[in-house]
Amino acid sequence: MLPITDAQIRASLINASVRERAALTLPADFAPLDWDRCDFLGWRDRKLPNVAYVVAPIGGELVGVMLRRAEGRLRSRPQCSWCKDVHLPNDVLFFVARRAGATGRKGDTVGTLVCADFQCSVNARRRPPVAYLGFDVEAARDRRVASLREHVIGFIREVAGEPLGG
Ligand SMILES: [Zn+2]
Repeated sequence: MLPITDAQIRASLINASVRERAALTLPADFAPLDWDRCDFLGWRDRKLPNVAYVVAPIGGELVGVMLRRAEGRLRSRPQCSWCKDVHLPNDVLFFVARRAGATGRKGDTVGTLVCADFQCSVNARRRPPVAYLGFDVEAARDRRVASLREHVIGFIREVAGEPLGG
């Protein structure tokens, strides 16, 4: 398990300024994470209502991204781009992340639809419905978890704009 501390989370943010890193508020229930049950840490800043963060282990390193909730209304039932759960118990919001480095300073962003409180790890691990006789529920769940990891890491890599970790 990767150790994860307040300082490491702040240092992991690839698209935040020094001031933005300092302003970050950790989730209220912040504690060492079990990365077997959690693919990434995602939360909305209690003190900055439109700001959120996503931190994930990539190639043995902790990499984090700061996101902002985008203005505007979504169509009534958007699907989360990360857990792709079609039976979502929660809302989905549109977030944008400024790209890391010079492209981000020019205003370039990456957008994604994500569960409002980043519940994707829990959603992906729920028992999927039995789709047909002989349907392998465990295998389906493993595939969902693997695909969630790919989506989160893919998003962070897109924000980074360059190869990360291994
Ligand atoms: Zn989700």
